[in-house]
Order: sequence, then structure tokens, then C-alpha cells
Amino acid sequence: MTLAATDLSFAPPEVRQTKLLIDGQWVDSVSGKTFDTINPATEEMIAQVAEGDAADIDLAVKAARKAFETGPWSRMDARDRGILLNRLADLCEQHIDELAALETLDNGKPISDARAADLPLVIDCFRYYAGWADKVEGKTIPVRGPYFCYTRHEPVGVAGQIIPWNFPLLMVAWKWGPALATGCTVVMKPAEQTPLSVLRMAELAMEAGFPPGVINIVNGFGETAGDALVKHPGVDKIAFTGEHRTAQIIMRNAADSLKRLTFELGGKSPNIIFADSDLDAAVEGAYFGLFFNQGQCCCAGSRVFVEENAHGEFIEKMVAKASQRKLGNPFDPETQQGPQVDRNQYDKVLHYINKGKEDGAQCVAGGGVPDGPGYFVEPTVFDGVTDDMAIATDEIFGPVMQVLKFKDAEEVIQRGNNTFYGLAAAVWTRDIGKAHHLAAKLRAGTVWVNCYDVFDAAAPFGGFKMSGQGRELGEYALRNYTEIKTVTVSMDG
Ligand code: ADP
Repeated sequence: MTLAATDLSFAPPEVRQTKLLIDGQWVDSVSGKTFDTINPATEEMIAQVAEGDAADIDLAVKAARKAFETGPWSRMDARDRGILLNRLADLCEQHIDELAALETLDNGKPISDARAADLPLVIDCFRYYAGWADKVEGKTIPVRGPYFCYTRHEPVGVAGQIIPWNFPLLMVAWKWGPALATGCTVVMKPAEQTPLSVLRMAELAMEAGFPPGVINIVNGFGETAGDALVKHPGVDKIAFTGEHRTAQIIMRNAADSLKRLTFELGGKSPNIIFADSDLDAAVEGAYFGLFFNQGQCCCAGSRVFVEENAHGEFIEKMVAKASQRKLGNPFDPETQQGPQVDRNQYDKVLHYINKGKEDGAQCVAGGGVPDGPGYFVEPTVFDGVTDDMAIATDEIFGPVMQVLKFKDAEEVIQRGNNTFYGLAAAVWTRDIGKAHHLAAKLRAGTVWVNCYDVFDAAAPFGGFKMSGQGRELGEYALRNYTEIKTVTVSMDG
């Protein structure tokens, strides 16, 4: 297979910012070190980015503490914090093409996805939390005795936010939105694969008028900068999105200071298709639910369970769709699938494709890589997958679909739940009773019925079991960033 389009029909964007943001200043790292960020479509270096480590984290945390405790932010009215978030949303809208292009350059995702999916969700998320800023309310509590008792929902303090590379700007919005609405300050460590769009977003935040120290960005690696952030005693809370193994390390490292922790982790989500569903819609949903973003979604519907008597037709339709998917230059607006984000992910995906073949699953679409540079992997479909195969148990995080057959609802509930993950699930059926039964029985933080990957800033998202702790988005995410204070006032005399 050769790539659909290898000529660069759209010029990549200009890279303007590669430093660290500490206390409102763009600075080099203390060590002076930099690291390369690579274009996954060409394997060429895009830029050298300042590499922060423990020393830079320390400066950033001190700036964030100062801003939280004594700076203008600490005295700002809640509604004015909302105004700043709205201003940032407006600036994102004005710079939407540039931000989408930076996302495509650094991550490899098709420009059409970045422009039509990632960025609109980012803007919507900032506006949603802008609205919450002045609506975080406590209660008055009817206690015994002559006391007036009330609660205040206060910001938790300095939030350390560690994000992955699959949706860099969307992760910024999910993390900054509730943190800034509630009055926290932030030290963010972007993923080492994708720092560029986050840095541009931080420039826009400065332009919007967030005071110095409220938002700090330290680029760098997990084992150095990320680790230092988790261990820093000046950080009150860590919000992390990434692999469950990293979350286990973070939990151990955060134990000494008993930091508040929220995690949004991986998944092996069951997408369950009954024969009584609208099969064309289910095929479309399964295709989108797995192949979107090169399969690099924590909620990817990677175990597609198809009821026995719909299986043949499903495979035929899915193979046709997967084989026609347009792989190529992510800056070409016709491209549907770009490269995997880096060599590690590319190698991991190929490892699982080989493993699937070795274990006896039938590779009915894709399975190879196109000629030429870049971390491209063909959209791949495995049929005849059994529950015990590595491709059915492990998160692959790539464009590799596993199709499994099932006979009835109770069986598929049990098999769908047979994983230590519990991020998402989907059910396709025209039987409303069956849909609600499965929605109740599936052990997952999100269940989509007759749809997939429908996200909204107002709808909470997060995992059961080892897929996470706490919920992002919606009103629920505000809890991650607030402490409840009880104030009791004597009314005697
Ligand atoms: P992935 O394998 O998809 O890159 P990770 O969980 O390794 O997922 O990475 C997600 C984020 O966590 C990245 O920003 C990464 O740098 C960071 N990270 C990795 N290891 C650690 C660690 N030990 N402590 C803190 N952050 C880490």
C-alpha cells in the first residue's frame, strides 16, 4: 500500500514558542537543555523545546503558590475568572486554524479532525467552565444549637496537571477549565511528544489576561519533570491522564504528601452490536469508535462484540470501510488517518498486529504499513478473536479492531465486563429495554447507546476500575478542584 497523498498540499504552521512558561515569563530551562519534537508524518525534527526538570518544576510551583496565595488571582472575583476563561475561548476561536495546524504538525492527526473535532470541543469546554466560575456554591446546614453553619467550596490550591499526547489541546481544556473556574493555579506538564500546541495555547492565555503564575507550563519528560511535580510538597493536587501503569507510579509517589489525585486512564472498551440494531449505523459507529484519532483514544471501542447472526454482514461492511480509509499526509483535508504519534507507539501497534496473527486471529483488513517515512499503520481488522488473546485483553492504542462473536445479552455483559478496565462501552440495538439493561450492567464510566464517542463538556467522563478515579467534565469535575470548608458561627449574644 502507498500513501494517498505524500505531497504537502498545506504548509505546516510557524512554530513560535518553545520555552517554558513560569510566573508569566517565557524562559529557558535552568539546565539549558532542550529536546527535539518530531513530526510523526515525516520523522523529521520540528523544533527543539526547552526541557524542564526538577529545578524548573520547583520555580513553577513557587510561582503558582505565590499566585494562589497572594497574587491578584487570589483576590479576583469569581465572575472575573469566568470572563478570563471566556476571553481565552474567544482567542482560541480567532486562532482556530493555527491551533489545529499545530496539533496536526506535532501529533499527526488529520487537519480535518483537529479543525472540526478537537478545537470546537476545546472552545466549548472553556466556555462551559467560564459559566461555572461564579456558580460554585456552598450550603447552609441546619445543625443543632445556636449556630449558623455553612460550607465554602474553596479552590484546592496548586494543581499539577500531567497530560498525554493524543488530544493535547482538549486535555488542556479539560484540565484548565475546572481548575481555573474554581480559582486554583496550575503547573502543567505537557506530553513530551506534543508540547507545541500547548505552548501556543499558553501564549493565548497570557494574552487573555491570566495573571502571572496562574498558568505555568514545564515541558519535559515524565520520569524527570512529571516525577518532580508529583513529589513536590507545594503541589496540592495531581490530575493525570495517561496509562494506568504511570498512574500506579504517581499514586505511590504522591503518597508521602497525600496529594489529591484524579486519574483518567486507559480502556479496552466493549462495543456491543445486536442483530436487531440498525447495522449500517452500528458499522459506522464501530468504525468511528475505533479508528478515530488513529485508534489513539482511551475510550476506543477496541472489542467489537457482534451477535452471531449479524456477524457475517458486519465483517463484510467493516472490511470494505476499513480498506477504503484514506491514509496519508495529515495536512491534506481529504486524509482520514494520519501516522501514529511516535516510533514507540508505532512499534507497539505492530507488535500487537503480529501477536494477533500468531495467536490465530484472522487479519481481514490491513495488517501492514505503507511505503515511505512516517509512523503510518494500515487500518486493521481482526476477526475470529477470542477473549483470552492479547489483542483482546491489552490496550493497543492504535488502528486495530478486534471482532468477537456472541450469542446473547447475559453472555456479552459478562464478557464485556471481563477486563480490569472500565472506561466506556456501547450498545447497538432497537430494543429499548435491552439497551437500558445493558447500560445498567456494563461496568464502565460511560455507556453510549446507538452512538459512540459523543462528548460534551457538560457530560462527566471517567473510569470504573483501573480506568480511573474521579470524573472530568461537567459539574462533577469541579469537585476535583475544591475543598469543602465548614464554617460554624455561634449566634449566642
Ligand atoms: P503514554 O505511554 O501514552 O505516553 P504515559 O502515561 O506514559 O502515557 O504518559 C502520559 C503523561 O505522563 C506524559 O506527560 C508523560 O510524560 C507523563 N509521565 C510518564 N511517566 C511519569 C511519571 N513517572 N511521573 C509523572 N508523569 C509521568
